[in-house]
Amino acid sequence: MSHPHPELGAPPELPTGGLRVIPLGGLGEVGRNMTVFEYDGRLLIVDCGVLFPDEHQPGVDLILPDFAPIRGRLDAIEALVLTHGHEDHIGATPYLLRERGDIPLVGSELTLALLNGKLREHRLKQPVSHTVKEGDRISFGPFDLEFIAVNHSIPDALAVAIRTGAGLVLHTGDFKMDQLPLDGRITDLRAFARLGEEGVDLFLTDSTNAEVPGFTTAERKITPVLDQVFREADQRIIVACFASHVHRVQQILDTAVAHDRRVAFVGRSMVRNMGVARDLGYLTIPSGVMVEAKELADLPVDRQVLISTGSQGEPMSALARIANRSHHFVNLEAGDTVVLASSLIPGNENAVYRVINGLSRWGARVVHKGNALVHVSGHASAGELLYCYNIVRPRNVLPVHGEVRHMLANGALAKQTGVENVVYAEDGVVVDLVDGVASVAGKVPVGYVFVDGPSIGDVTESELKDRRILGEEGFISVIVVVDSVAGKVSAGPEIHARGHAWDDTMFEAIKQPIVDAVNGLLSEGVDDTYQLQQSVRRTIGRWVSSTHKRRPMIIPVVVEA
Ligand SMILES: [Zn+2]
Ligand SMILES: [Zn+2]
Repeated sequence: MSHPHPELGAPPELPTGGLRVIPLGGLGEVGRNMTVFEYDGRLLIVDCGVLFPDEHQPGVDLILPDFAPIRGRLDAIEALVLTHGHEDHIGATPYLLRERGDIPLVGSELTLALLNGKLREHRLKQPVSHTVKEGDRISFGPFDLEFIAVNHSIPDALAVAIRTGAGLVLHTGDFKMDQLPLDGRITDLRAFARLGEEGVDLFLTDSTNAEVPGFTTAERKITPVLDQVFREADQRIIVACFASHVHRVQQILDTAVAHDRRVAFVGRSMVRNMGVARDLGYLTIPSGVMVEAKELADLPVDRQVLISTGSQGEPMSALARIANRSHHFVNLEAGDTVVLASSLIPGNENAVYRVINGLSRWGARVVHKGNALVHVSGHASAGELLYCYNIVRPRNVLPVHGEVRHMLANGALAKQTGVENVVYAEDGVVVDLVDGVASVAGKVPVGYVFVDGPSIGDVTESELKDRRILGEEGFISVIVVVDSVAGKVSAGPEIHARGHAWDDTMFEAIKQPIVDAVNGLLSEGVDDTYQLQQSVRRTIGRWVSSTHKRRPMIIPVVVEA
């Protein structure tokens, strides 16, 4: 992946007393958030998340931040602060712990509990962890941390204030300003104001919804919509949402109770996370409402509710399998209602619409955020960000968490409120805070690190290109046997094709031209196998592209008899 800032060189040595910010992920994309702070030779990391691959990255399970810039300095890491339990903030932690297992982890109770479930799946030993809550202050080396409650689409999210000799940094994490959230835990603007009075030297703010005017709709507004969906449904209801959206699940459970339905969770992460949330008291399960998924099927269809994963169209998820009718015990029927109570993460559009079409084809009624208010965002819109800037009055702003357009929109809001210095950076672009002024100091090389099953970082962009070709255009193998003594083709070509709509019988017309091409070279004295294979590839490649308008992967094999 080429770096977006070719003009920048390596950063100079950090001046004494300065704070360096090295974003390794999340700036320029929605996902794999990870920011490294450096002061006096010591490092503090905020978040360590994953990015989910899109359909242009076939076979990739996850994309990690590139740890390369800190790999030689793992011992200098004082702590990893996790602002909340979303995958784009905690998902890469197991991979970082594989490189150094005793990095102290700092986060709220729910965040660390969700992370621990993940670490167990990775069979990592118990980490060194520090559970914190809003109002807590704790120091790691030269970093003095204070935590502030923020409201987001997962409970127990925290912003973090970082005090060093270079000044006060406030990182919002992901947040919004729902004033009447379901759990009553609002973003603590009084703390933001107090920090503002003290003087915030650098403010890192969530850019995700900076382009959206006004205020993010309150979570509570979904309740009457869900109620109506339930009232109108006379068969089974399947609701897909994020496996960490405890409040959304709470609303669905409460609505199910009101309509005398029973609920089952489907999808491994949903079952696991909701178990954690229930055990810690973040999710209140009304008695008698939950049943095992398989028992649910024995109830009348108008008493069944399934809460499932797969709201982003993930091909292996429960919902995708239900939409294909390949789920092992949920058989979708015409007249069932499916609710996608979730956002649409950029890059997932095609996959989600494929699932919606699949469900619709079977006769399901599909309710999604495009046709009903069944989802509200977890991120602050422009109006909320303006309030924040006016309350905090920061000296310098670094927009984070978003694509370039989101970060630019966020920076423009800061400027409107009178913030003089807005610094824009993408992954790898280093920002130094020196004498109260933040500026871009240079860049460090960072790339995408692909996780493909057990392999980490072995898959390259060029290999992904091959996979895309294989997936979309198919694969053709051509075997030709040559008699090098006689100097001509003695058998074949044998042509086999896979994928696309290829059929082995389609290639009759090209067999003779391949023989002619190979014989032609042999008669000129060319007997190098590689050159003969290239000639086979060119001959069939040109023919396929002109007659079928396709560019499949072609594997020519020339063997000598
Ligand atoms: Zn989040
Ligand atoms: Zn996030």
